[in-house]
Amino acid sequence: MVIGKANMDEFAMGSSTEYSAFGPTLNPWDLSKVPGGSSGGSAASVAAGYAPIALGSDTGGSIRQPAAFCGVYGLKPTYGLVSRYGLVAFASSLDQIGPFARDLKDLALVLQIISEPDDCDATCVRKERPNYLEFLNESSLEGFKVGYLSDYKSLEIDEEVKKAVTEALKICQDAGAEIIEVELPISARYGLPCYYTIAPAEASSSLARFDGVRYGFSVEAEDLQELYQKSRGGGFGPEVKRRILIGTFVLSSSGYETYYLQAQKARQLVVKEFDEVFLKADVLLLPATPTLPFKRGEKILDPVKVYMADLFTIPVNLAGLPGLSMKVSSSSSGLPVGIQLVSKKFCEGDILKTASIIERAVGPATTIMGGDLK
Ligand code: GLN
Repeated sequence: MVIGKANMDEFAMGSSTEYSAFGPTLNPWDLSKVPGGSSGGSAASVAAGYAPIALGSDTGGSIRQPAAFCGVYGLKPTYGLVSRYGLVAFASSLDQIGPFARDLKDLALVLQIISEPDDCDATCVRKERPNYLEFLNESSLEGFKVGYLSDYKSLEIDEEVKKAVTEALKICQDAGAEIIEVELPISARYGLPCYYTIAPAEASSSLARFDGVRYGFSVEAEDLQELYQKSRGGGFGPEVKRRILIGTFVLSSSGYETYYLQAQKARQLVVKEFDEVFLKADVLLLPATPTLPFKRGEKILDPVKVYMADLFTIPVNLAGLPGLSMKVSSSSSGLPVGIQLVSKKFCEGDILKTASIIERAVGPATTIMGGDLK
């Protein structure tokens, strides 16, 4: 039973749900903080207990980052696992729809249902899907390799996030996993700039259809030029305009080779880097976000700071891999602290298996009311 439509950043562009025409969504754990974004309304609804499950879309982190900020589970499936038929595109080569839930069983159930092959989306693969629930019953990680970033302790990330990663690694090790060091230098260095070239380029192209003629907001005008200008100028919010400007620039004749082509090359290097890492590890255990939920309004004047919130999630989209974020602990100020698990393409099962062992040790996510309202 669908009980509501959740708030989000306009066209899924944002990391704090402050760019919504409906106003901001607040983090249920601390109303002065952002819930993350862009699918912040979905994450907040599940954390607040309004609904046991919700859907979101993830182009660069918009399921996993708000899930981490709100202390719930959020899964971005492999690119091509879930049909995007009916989803308004932000950046078609990156977007995926995925579930939010307070426990892994609900998450796996929703994944099972939404991951049916679909002829209406040419990017949705026709592969047989496994029974995702079966991965939740395993009690050991014997013979399994969990990779972590060798330099995570020296990265500029919140101490509480580092502690959560260490704690989750220990749980995996106690369950029999071999813990191995990995490095992702290309993703760390080029992931963000590469994404902030490719995603706006695709967005500027797909949002061109919002010209006031057929789709969305339209303004009365004397002639066609005025119709375009007023409809697009008045209809799009500031962040969407910023992305359209960046995207149009990097696709222009002077920007194409310098920016867009370079970003496509960098994307291939990110893909290759993950391929190599997954020759050694079955699953990667990474931070979900560099920081805990930040204050509303704190970063709105500095878009680059907001973009940094997706440092650990964006490379996963660039490579088309599945990623899940989950709560591991609470900070000293009572905010949820999450981690992220990433695996090879179509190996959501490996993520669920690892996550279920961590879930058994730390307990399922709770609502702000404490209990489980299901
Ligand atoms: N925060 C990122 C952005 O603003 C990712 C958004 C998303 O995943 N939809 O582009």
